[in-house]
Amino acid sequence: MMLGVLALAIIMVVLVDRLYGHSTLAFAAAIMMLVIANAPMLRFNCPACGKNLFFRGVLVVPWPNRICSACGHDCDSANSQNR
Ligand SMILES: [Zn+2]
Repeated sequence: MMLGVLALAIIMVVLVDRLYGHSTLAFAAAIMMLVIANAPMLRFNCPACGKNLFFRGVLVVPWPNRICSACGHDCDSANSQNR
């Protein structure tokens, strides 16, 4: 899902860039799309302790942790409907 949105955003930027010669608007639109796509991602929290599964220490990764890095809960079984 995330990779599809990212690819779509990149394709959109490239297309509009070729059509209009500058990509400021398309870039802003792509960022908006990514933010909208990321909104549910930011609510993707560990069902046991509530820690966001996309944060691994100080790093933010584009895919969720399968095992919660804070409490070790196996989130894969709890969130299987989202995959
Ligand atoms: Zn947890």
